[in-house]
Parts: sequence; C-alpha cells; structure tokens
Amino acid sequence: MEPTHIEHIGIAVESLEEAIPFYEKTFGLKCYSVEEVRDQKVKTAFFKIGQTKIELLESTAPDGPIGKFIEKKGQGVHHIAFAVKDLSTRLKELEQKDVQLIDKTPRKGAEGLNIAFLHPKSTFGVLTELCEKPEK
Ligand code: ZN
Repeated sequence: MEPTHIEHIGIAVESLEEAIPFYEKTFGLKCYSVEEVRDQKVKTAFFKIGQTKIELLESTAPDGPIGKFIEKKGQGVHHIAFAVKDLSTRLKELEQKDVQLIDKTPRKGAEGLNIAFLHPKSTFGVLTELCEKPEK
C-alpha cells in the first residue's frame, strides 16, 4: 500500500473556540481553515506542520462520532490519517487481507479529500483513516 506521508492527525476537542487559540499561541501554528462536515456531525479546524496537518474535531451533536468518543474517552488523539494513492484499490486489497473496514468505498471528507476509515479492532486500537487527493 505504501502511504506517501501522514496526511493529518485528528484530535477530538470539546471546543474549537478554546483549542484554536491554544494551538496558535502555544505552538505558533496558524489555523487556515474551519469547516463543518455535516454527515460526520463535526466541525474541523486545520493547521499545517510541514506536509502534515493537525485536524481539530469538535462535535456538533452528542450522538455524532466525536461526541460519543469524548463521552467515552475524553479529549485526545482520535485518529491518524495516511495519504495513499488509488484509495478504492487499497480498500479492496485490505479487505482481502481481512482488515475490518468502516468504509468499504471512499467517501468525501474535509478539504475535498476522498477518505475511508479502517476499524480500530484491526489496527491495534488506532482508528486509521486513508486519504486520497481526488484527480482534478
Ligand atoms: Zn481525519
């Protein structure tokens, strides 16, 4: 599969309003985008570190995936995302290797990327996302 780099690290926070200024003041990073992903019931804020991003995730509904995550585990690292090429093919390969997939086919994520999640049961407890930049 050979991912090209870590696309981003997703961090669940209770409040973007608190977390964004913290990242800006403490680490000197600049938030360059805030975006709501409605079907994930989440508001995201992005920072760049080299070619990797930090994606802060605030839940917009208690029954959304981030709302449930924070209720169970509290704030913290939520997922890690690898940049890959040809995501559909990668997913088929993983399925053949009996890796449990949350998304069997790519769907639209933040920043216009095609994304798919692998189940943490198959990845040593780390929710893993694969991202592909769509061809223009
Ligand atoms: Zn993500």
